[in-house]
Amino acid sequence: MSTMKSTQPVYSGPATTYSMVNAAISMNYVVTALWKEGTWVCIQYDVTADKRRGFVPASAVNITEPSVPTFTPTNYTRYVAGNTTTYNGPSSSGYPTVATLTSGTVVSFLNKNEGSFALIEYTLSGSQKTRSYINSANLQLVKPTLTLAQLKSKFPHGKYWNRMGLSANNQDGYTSTQCSNHGNTNNCNHYNPGTSDLASQCLGFALKCGYDSTGYDPLAIANGWSSSESSSSLDSLKAGDIVRYTTATNEHSIFVTGVSGDTVTYGDCNGTGKPCEIRWGATISKATLKSKFVKLRSAPKTLI
Ligand SMILES: [Zn+2]
Repeated sequence: MSTMKSTQPVYSGPATTYSMVNAAISMNYVVTALWKEGTWVCIQYDVTADKRRGFVPASAVNITEPSVPTFTPTNYTRYVAGNTTTYNGPSSSGYPTVATLTSGTVVSFLNKNEGSFALIEYTLSGSQKTRSYINSANLQLVKPTLTLAQLKSKFPHGKYWNRMGLSANNQDGYTSTQCSNHGNTNNCNHYNPGTSDLASQCLGFALKCGYDSTGYDPLAIANGWSSSESSSSLDSLKAGDIVRYTTATNEHSIFVTGVSGDTVTYGDCNGTGKPCEIRWGATISKATLKSKFVKLRSAPKTLI
């Protein structure tokens, strides 16, 4: 067994810019050297309750394993499918959890598998990189998209698309409390496909559903999304599209979930009279939409 030559902080990757696994591992601590990357070595060691994996400078370890391979990672872009817990080592037991990554999170797969686990790297808020292990069944090549059933489960009918009682935007969640100060940024959720809040209330919710069902921002007019301000565009209206139309007092946006003859079924937020309430299964006639038409955002594919 190898031992530490000196006390060292342990990082999740082979540089001090990675997140820390342990603030210090003591001199003479027994470790197993797993592989080398550059001037660093990945070690595994036992702690009181379980095991840890991380990197220390190779020069700080008295390596006694007869053969320690060198690993050169290759970065492959992958998407996390489903909200998924990652671990410090290649198992869901015996190592601490690192994070729960939300479905659709972009990560780098480092081209290293152990059993059913894959080594990944990603950037946390700020610029700090982290490495951890994820079940490889939860990594996929294409952006995950949600079906109508999954959208209804994610944003339940009768709940509120807002951040009441929470300290931050809650665009992937909901609450059971209607907005007490509706229109205030500390109340309503905001659609944010990257780094900017782009819309709230009815439009924000419709855009969020459009994004989650396609993997692409409906506002970008790219990746198959298009828009039209001609009411004749409603002739080809389909599930997955977003329609904006005038109401008695304002304008309203809806996320279309079905079209049958003249009947359009939709989901929306802030359309029931209760601020930011989520609703599914409402209907409106296509003729009404045509007479009050403002804009169609046409999805790249029909919602299933
Ligand atoms: Zn609100």
